[in-house]
Amino acid sequence: MKELYNLIRDIPDFPKKGIIFKDITPLLKDEKAFEKVIKILADNIPDSTKKIAAIESRGFIFAGALAFLLKKGFIPIRKTGKLPYKTINYTYQLEYGTDTIEIHSDAIEKGEKVVIIDDLLATGGTAYAAAKLVEKCGGVVEKIVFLIELSALNGEEKLKDYQIFSLLKL
Ligand code: AMP
Repeated sequence: MKELYNLIRDIPDFPKKGIIFKDITPLLKDEKAFEKVIKILADNIPDSTKKIAAIESRGFIFAGALAFLLKKGFIPIRKTGKLPYKTINYTYQLEYGTDTIEIHSDAIEKGEKVVIIDDLLATGGTAYAAAKLVEKCGGVVEKIVFLIELSALNGEEKLKDYQIFSLLKL
């Protein structure tokens, strides 16, 4: 596992001052590490899951591979204005202002079990919004799965109503 941690690169002050950005590209370009990550994440997705939903854009990298491997459907959750068909949206609070994410209105069957994937859990606001969006669409959030969790930011508390799994805790 140590080698996976070593492939996460800290970029200070990106995209703005005071943020230490966790750059996952060294891990992604290492085929053995990427395969290992996908296999571990796959082991943490229940068999009963029908769809894998992910938040753009880095969530897509993992969700596409997992959906293929586990033979499940993939659902994109995107920032407002990107999805072409009828959408359902959810607006959530950021530190300054708000953000809106969307899903296609026909993405999920009523009662369908969905796992949400993202690359990183920080405050949990994004994943919480994605979970609410899946529920608004009629789905049941079975689990929320992350590659990285920034434990100090306590995103786990924000997501306390959900089962979560994070592979790497920083
Ligand atoms: P949050 O809503 O605070 O949990 O933020 C999570 C979302 O923001 C994820 O989609 C991450 O890709 C991105 N993010 C937040 N903080 C960082 C960070 N330090 N490094 C890389 N991505 C981050």
